[in-house]
Amino acid sequence: MSPQQNQPDLEPLPEIFYHACDPVFNGMPEIKRPFVYGDNIVATDRSIFVAANKNRYDVSGILDHTKNKKISGVGRVLQEIVSTECEKPYSPVEIPEDNIRFMEYKSRTNHRCPECEGSGKVETHTKYSTYKNTCLRCEGTGIGLRIEHVNEAVCIDGLRLNPCYIYLINKADKYHIKEKLQLFFRMSDIRGMICGYRF
Ligand SMILES: [Zn+2]
Repeated sequence: MSPQQNQPDLEPLPEIFYHACDPVFNGMPEIKRPFVYGDNIVATDRSIFVAANKNRYDVSGILDHTKNKKISGVGRVLQEIVSTECEKPYSPVEIPEDNIRFMEYKSRTNHRCPECEGSGKVETHTKYSTYKNTCLRCEGTGIGLRIEHVNEAVCIDGLRLNPCYIYLINKADKYHIKEKLQLFFRMSDIRGMICGYRF
């Protein structure tokens, strides 16, 4: 007997939550899928962050990481998103077809793992000895995964942003650009933030 079942009012989780998470980053398995954090349903790949009140959506089967200390930074980001006022009306940005090969832009290329520099092992020094351990970041493969750097950028008020993120939020209602680093947005009941390119 589960009172959650067959509740007619719960909507399926919007697609943006699945596009915004990071399905391949082994360093933080919590963000491979959307997750519950407090009253929010959240998804992030560390460059885009989307959140909405979980009560509106069918979140059955979605993990609750509210008490997971490893991702305690999520609370801080959520707080920043909630407290940042978005007053500027958002106008959809025209994005060339070539720039919205979304998963391609989010796809990873293989690089040497920055933690072990590709050796798959890290050294641990104690007072008495040096140990070699399997690198946790790459799980011993020596391969570091990262988002392919894209040359294309969408420029909004001087902030350069990955076009696939803008594609995801192109129906936003309002936005705010903070310190030329981040774009905050409101899109219906979804709130979020996108980090711009720094260079
Ligand atoms: Zn490594």
